Amino acid sequence: MDIFVIFMAGSIVGSFLNVCIVRLPQAKSVVFPSSHCPRCQKPIAWYDNIPLVSWIVLGGRCRRCKTTIDFRYWLVEFLTASFFAVFYLTYGFNPLLPAYLVMICCFMVATFVDLEHRIIPDEVSIGGLWAGLILSAFIPQLHPSSENLVLGGFIAGFLVVLCLLLSWIYPFFCKHLMEEEPYNDKPFKILVLLSLLFIAFVNNFMFIPPPGIASLAAALIGFIIGAGAIYAMGLLGDILFRKESMGGGDVKLMAMIGAFLGWKTALLSFFIAPFFGAIVGIIEKIRTKDSTIAYGPFLVLGALVSLFWGRAIIQWVIQGGVYRL
Ligand SMILES: [Zn+2]
Repeated sequence: MDIFVIFMAGSIVGSFLNVCIVRLPQAKSVVFPSSHCPRCQKPIAWYDNIPLVSWIVLGGRCRRCKTTIDFRYWLVEFLTASFFAVFYLTYGFNPLLPAYLVMICCFMVATFVDLEHRIIPDEVSIGGLWAGLILSAFIPQLHPSSENLVLGGFIAGFLVVLCLLLSWIYPFFCKHLMEEEPYNDKPFKILVLLSLLFIAFVNNFMFIPPPGIASLAAALIGFIIGAGAIYAMGLLGDILFRKESMGGGDVKLMAMIGAFLGWKTALLSFFIAPFFGAIVGIIEKIRTKDSTIAYGPFLVLGALVSLFWGRAIIQWVIQGGVYRL
């Protein structure tokens, strides 16, 4: 019974996410005005706006002007409802549940906006990053293994130094691409440096940090390593192949993934995403002779796979290696 309620709640949230997916890229309010048909502008009555049901009853068409309403509307409602149900079945009524549901909402909007417009709105990535950091401070269960703080802090510091070096040599190699380095977001960089200071403080001056502080430090490490890994790879790709490959939206999306899931899961998502991306990229290249694809959806897919099967994947890789020896 409760699973049914969660599923329905998910479909209602999904119908709101549809509004975000359409309006955020246009910089319009997601609250006003209420839903209306994109072609005839007629406001949609409540009985034509029932999640999952109305689209099917109306045969995917506006009641008045009969214009087709994209299947995406139904798909987003269905996927959101399904993810709500899956997360409830996996975690039950646990403090983790609301945190992961916020994350999945950000994932849905990022994925479908990226697929259509090749951008990821800051409201979702940066907003999601802040949500992940704040939730981590209050829900320590998000980052239970605080023993990873020292190693994580070390990797985070290393990645920041690597990124600084790469962005310093970037103009020498890629002058023909851009006048300055591709991703110049000052507030974001200031946040990275402040986070590094906080992590260093926790690691050096707090013998046993309180759970909330440790969890926040872990979220900050996750955000730096997630963003740093893809940023470094982008710069390196540009330098080696002399071809623009950077997407600032992907950097911020990885920042959010790291804040919610921690640096290990974020790194695993980063390594898994290209496998999905390569498969779809090859299909697209054959189909449309254009291999540029939206990368955000694959990062999201990688994050979900890492969250649910990360442990099994790592075990499988390690054991495979052991058997071969
Ligand atoms: Zn219409």
